[in-house]
Parts: sequence; C-alpha cells; structure tokens
Amino acid sequence: MFSELTGNAGVKDALKRMITSGRLPGALLFTGEEGVGKKRFALELARALNCRTPKNGEACGVCSSCERIAKLNYPEREDADEWTQIIWTNHPDVGLVVAPKRVLRVEQMRQIEKEANFRPFEGKARVFLIDEADKLNDASANALLKVLEEPPHTSHLILITARPAMLLPTILSRCQMIRFAPLTPAEIESHLLKDKSTDKKTAQLRARAAGGSIGRALANDLVTFTSQRKAMLGVLNALVMTNDRAQLLRSAEQLNDAQYKDEFEERLDVLETLIRDAWMLSLGVKTDVLVNADLLPELEKISQRIDPGRAADWILQIEDVREELIVNINRKVTTDALFLTMAGEVPPQKRPKIR
Ligand SMILES: [Zn+2]
Repeated sequence: MFSELTGNAGVKDALKRMITSGRLPGALLFTGEEGVGKKRFALELARALNCRTPKNGEACGVCSSCERIAKLNYPEREDADEWTQIIWTNHPDVGLVVAPKRVLRVEQMRQIEKEANFRPFEGKARVFLIDEADKLNDASANALLKVLEEPPHTSHLILITARPAMLLPTILSRCQMIRFAPLTPAEIESHLLKDKSTDKKTAQLRARAAGGSIGRALANDLVTFTSQRKAMLGVLNALVMTNDRAQLLRSAEQLNDAQYKDEFEERLDVLETLIRDAWMLSLGVKTDVLVNADLLPELEKISQRIDPGRAADWILQIEDVREELIVNINRKVTTDALFLTMAGEVPPQKRPKIR
C-alpha cells in the first residue's frame, strides 16, 4: 500500500488520483535523488493496477497479485546474461530492465516493445520499469521511442532516473514527469526504525547524515559524518561566535587536505545544513525540523548571534562554490576564497574566480 511507503505524500495522492480516475498516462518518468524510493513507488503502482481487491487506488498488499509483484527476480550472478533481458517479478505482467554495464541496450527496448504489445496475461495492466533511464544511448533511446509513440492502453512504462537532464527531449516530451522530493530526517528516521533493527539514537544520526536519501542513510559511515560535522561546526563558530580568521583559514586548509579529497562536497553539504539550522532557529522555527537537532545547545548559541541576511548569503556562496567546482578543480583557491568571503573579508563580487 502507498500508505506504507515513506515520504512523498504528494506523489502518492497524484498516483492514486490517476488510478481512480482511469487517467494514468501510458508513460511516466519518476525523477528525484537516488534512494528516495522511486522504484518502490513504481512497483506499488504496478500492484495497485493489478490488485484483485484494490481500494481507492491502493493495492490491498495481501492478495496473490500483490504478493507476487512485490518481488523482482534479479539474476544471482553479476555477469549473468539475464541482466540484458526483462527481469520479471513473480507476476507475468510486471517486469523491469536495468543497465547492464552502464548502458541500456537496444535489445532490451525491443523486448519491452514486444511485451508491451501483448494484452495482460493475468492482471489488468502490463507494467515495465526502466531503471536508470539516463543510461539510454542514442540507439536504445530510439528503440524506446517506438514504444512511447503508441503504447497499448493496457501497458504502462515507468522510466526512473535521478538525472532527467540526460534524457532526449523527444523522450521527455512523451512522458509525464513525477518529481520525488528528498525525504526529511524525520521520515528517514521512522523508516529506519520500522524496517531495520537499529536503535533510536543511531537512526537519528543516520537520518541526519542522509541528505534526504534512504539509500545514503543505510550506506553512510557515521564515524566520518560525526567528524565532518564537528569540523564544520568549528567553521560556523569561527564565523559567528569568535570571528577567528586564523581558525577559518586552518579549516579551509583542512578541507583541502588530500585525505578529505572525496569528502569535500559532503563537508560543504554538512556546513550548509548547520547554517540553515542556526538560521531557522534565529527565526523561531520549531526545533523538530532541524537537520542537526542533536546539536541544539551549540546551534542555539550561534542562532542568537547569527545575522539572517548573512546566513542567506553564505548559503548562496556555498551554492556558487558547488557550481564552480564543476569547472574548476583548484579547490584550495576556491575554499580559501569562500571562507574569506563568508567572513566578510572579500566582497563577493571581487572574489577571485578561476575558470
Ligand atoms: Zn492486492
């Protein structure tokens, strides 16, 4: 049932409305960050369409159709040929394709075209998930276009991607896009507590470190996150509380340290959540929406001295750096400049730029 999935209430409502009104488009595009549940929602949609006793656009979750659609039969061996074919659920009308070796192949799209032309074998609709749809190449995208041009009304295609910008405009224009939002720390925490055997404190910390993604919440290394957060809290303290320029430059240096090379952007993300939290607190926002609620005492002190206008600027400045990093690999100059700009030492418009 949709109600058992975590987050994205708006998406649930939209999908249920489409199902109950009989206006579900033949092709949907699920977009949104990795790990927010796009594939689970797609399978749930397939269940709702094929459930034997559906109610208000919801699958019952217990009939034999619902039960069989819940499980995808992924090949056991990584190099198995089955990866290049439709991977079926235990239900004959619902399957998925993934990109073997990072490319979705023409044969896979042709197989979907063939299967989509059949009427449902058993249920009411045939549903095909195309995972990592950004991995279509020109040839496979063109093969897919043929299916998208006139899908039989009992067949539905759900394209799934975190990078919709990689898709051809001709494909985008034939799909209805459904956007998934990142999950809130509270949503991730309740998911972790429900699904996995973890204690509340760990679940809270993982949820905060996850940046809106359940996938990341499960994969994250908590020791790293805790130390990253401590370092970035030091930066915010130096900016707001002590005005300690030397400390800022030390932090900039540390951020550029080769040993944290892979963590650079994560650390910027963490810094941004800390700034946002202190800023929110200064505006009197309730503490349960904070990402770093466990650091409340420190954040409260900072919030009493933070200037909301400056906090807003800092966030924009961090965003700028993220963009610059795409084209500019000289992180040292960029980071020194960022921290000095944040400290008000360099006016933003005169910030050195390297392109
Ligand atoms: Zn059912």
